[in-house]
Amino acid sequence: MMAQYLALKAEAQDCLLFYRMGDFFELFFDDAKIASAALDIALTARGEHDGKPIPMCGVPAHSAEAYLARLIKAGHRVAIADQIETPEQAKARGSKSLVGRAIIRVVTAGTLTEETLLDARSANWLVALGEAGGALGLAAADISTGRFEVTRIDPNALGAELARLNPAEIVVAENAAHWPDAAFARPRADFDSTGGETRLKTLFGVATLDGFGGFDRAELAAAGGLVAYLDHAGKGTLPFLQPPIRRAVEGHMMIDAATRESLELTQANGGGRAGSLLDVVDRTVTGAGARLLAADIGAPLADRLAIEERLDLVQHYCDDSGLREHVRGALKALPDIGRALGRLVAGRGSPRDLGQLRDGLGEARLLRERLGNLIDPPVLLARLLPMLDGHGALVDHLSRALVATPPIDAAQGGYIAEGYDAALDELRGVGGDGRRAIAALEARYREQTGISALKIRHNGVLGYHVEVPARSGDALMRPESGFTHRQTLAGVVRFNAPELHEQALRVTQAGAHALAAEAAHLEALTEEALVRRESIAHTADALARLDVASALAERAAEGGWTRPDLVEDPRFEVEGGRHPVVERAIEKAGERFVANDCRLAENQRLWLVTGPNMGGKSTFLRQNALIAVLAQAGSFVPASRATLGLVDRLFSRVGASDNLARGRSTFMVEMVETAAILAQATEHSFVILDEVGRGTSTYDGLAIAWAVVEAVHDINRSRCLFATHYHELTRLAERLDALSLHHVRAREWKGDLVLLHELADGPADRSYGIAVGKLAGLPPTVLHRASEVLKKLEAGRAQTGGLAAGLDDLPLFAAMAAPAEEDKDVLRDALNMLDADALTPREALDALYRLKAIA
Ligand code: ADP
Repeated sequence: MMAQYLALKAEAQDCLLFYRMGDFFELFFDDAKIASAALDIALTARGEHDGKPIPMCGVPAHSAEAYLARLIKAGHRVAIADQIETPEQAKARGSKSLVGRAIIRVVTAGTLTEETLLDARSANWLVALGEAGGALGLAAADISTGRFEVTRIDPNALGAELARLNPAEIVVAENAAHWPDAAFARPRADFDSTGGETRLKTLFGVATLDGFGGFDRAELAAAGGLVAYLDHAGKGTLPFLQPPIRRAVEGHMMIDAATRESLELTQANGGGRAGSLLDVVDRTVTGAGARLLAADIGAPLADRLAIEERLDLVQHYCDDSGLREHVRGALKALPDIGRALGRLVAGRGSPRDLGQLRDGLGEARLLRERLGNLIDPPVLLARLLPMLDGHGALVDHLSRALVATPPIDAAQGGYIAEGYDAALDELRGVGGDGRRAIAALEARYREQTGISALKIRHNGVLGYHVEVPARSGDALMRPESGFTHRQTLAGVVRFNAPELHEQALRVTQAGAHALAAEAAHLEALTEEALVRRESIAHTADALARLDVASALAERAAEGGWTRPDLVEDPRFEVEGGRHPVVERAIEKAGERFVANDCRLAENQRLWLVTGPNMGGKSTFLRQNALIAVLAQAGSFVPASRATLGLVDRLFSRVGASDNLARGRSTFMVEMVETAAILAQATEHSFVILDEVGRGTSTYDGLAIAWAVVEAVHDINRSRCLFATHYHELTRLAERLDALSLHHVRAREWKGDLVLLHELADGPADRSYGIAVGKLAGLPPTVLHRASEVLKKLEAGRAQTGGLAAGLDDLPLFAAMAAPAEEDKDVLRDALNMLDADALTPREALDALYRLKAIA
């Protein structure tokens, strides 16, 4: 056995090996140590290998799925070695006791189809990267629904694309140049472009790939590597793949990983979905709709016509709330036909999956009838409607063949409806008659033997048998009684009887034949459904699109959102804009969100927003970025009016101290990310920069913020919102003609700070830092002391010109000389803050002590 085990293990060295032994999957050696720790199950030992005991642990086969789920989640891969013959077959083959085993499947995070292992509302992407001729290709498949995309990708955009997909698993050729963290290496030969082409042609049964749009060599290398990997994981059974769609990265708004994270588009910073933009927008009623909406928000479009098509459909459902309710009601009842189909194709389908196809496709047909009689439907709807129909014969057949709610487990039978197959009905009749006859026997035997406690029972070992209490057993032991003794237990004695045996045989034979007949029907029905796999997948996609559009309409109606007006010139005019996530949080607390306008245009590209901490600067910046995302995803937006020029790239950066959770030097991260914006943003881009520069000393920070604003204004010429607490930056307004000053309003009222969260023109008059400190609960003694220090500092600033002294003399950005030697000396900063003339002798002594403490 160990030899067989080790041979299998050699085939699956990168996996934990689940080795089937009877009712258990066992793990040995290091696998056992890893799994027992990850699953928190007992580690035992069995036999010896090289003189040492072999560590072992095991999980029951019937509940293996739950354990698999935990191992996969923990980042492991699992190979399943099952018995591929019965002990009888093994004997016939000449093997004394060892049954043959083989790896039937490799389970990995990217190759799951099981309902219990997948999140119904998120896609599960497997990504493969391929290289050819210096170019990079990316193939992505969600085999739970068969979606298959192929892209030629700029290596610089790889991070953004991976952030969008958030893949469950990435595979690359070993020694590949582009190797993201956590990628899994596969043989180089799998990623050969010629081999890839052949693999795709064979898979889709075509002589040329031109019908799918044609692919370049890098794309073929990636797609080929992906298919080869699926083949490896499925051990020859390929899961469902729709013909590949060629996805053009240029058709979408580019959003890099840092921006995605900072805007919390589909995932909040905590990691979950709660608190993300997706979370507050999502009103979909199906899993497929939720997955599509997540994809839409994760990859807003950059093509105006395509966006308008989506908006038209949302508008359609906005205008008619009765229709919207009807559609949503119908969709709510829909099973996830995309994923049911995925399981059926992967050979892991169940009667219930066929039942789901029947119900889902039937419902789609009804929906088509209801939606189909429009005179002038929106373009997108006109395209979707025909996809809802066309499965009439299949639905009718499944309806006749299957019971109302077919079970997941086919082994017990009972899923083929009565009246579908006369022979099956007859077998069931025989079985039923047999069971009735057995029930009648019980009464007769009681009468015959006079034992009123006599029962007929059934179990897996004895089958049907007669059971009497131990004290009555002797009467039946006599041969002339006609009963044969089978078993004596503590309290009961069990017997067989000829007539019972005969009836039992009828029941079991009829049962076995009925099961076989049902299984044959299941196979034929599955086959029939799979012939239509591609058009069923289209129906599933069309239903998901209807769900998304009606859900966005529902959300718009609920929040009073408005349809954005998309234009070609780089404008960004939002009236009464709101931040949907903050708004919801605030309303929960019983307060009202203050709506704000934003007006950017070609000659008014950059808004510099100042004002106190907690005043609403970040919220304002983000709400406008989110409005751009929503609009281009095809959604209405939380504003009373919005006229938006398309955004090609979106950037969001937050000053370092907000991102302390990250491991690296936060200021370094901030600078790296800012550099990326300056390198990539165009005049069609939209950039929000929040407190950039605050991760370092005051002087450095101001200098960097200053230079960044100048560069964005003069060189990138992007639309930009820049929030800062460096009041000194407002001087830039004198020189940069497309920059204007704004602030979030605040008032002091009876010594307390009131934050109005309202945007106004012009710079903030002061920073209210001490007042914010009071709001935050700093003790009165500290506040008092701070006020004193502030007064001194301000007096000093009036004399020296303050932090911004000398900035007016700077030459223009483009002509600027190399930056002066860096100055990070805290001691010098502290010295500079001192105003020697304003100090009393006592204060001077105190200051000296403080300086010594710093040094
Ligand atoms: P800043 O960036 O100026 O420090 P934030 O944007 O983080 O301020 O806002 C601080 C808090 O103020 C938010 O968490 C929110 O509770 C509240 N807030 C922000 N903007 C608004 C608004 N427009 N209306 C109502 N409350 C707001």
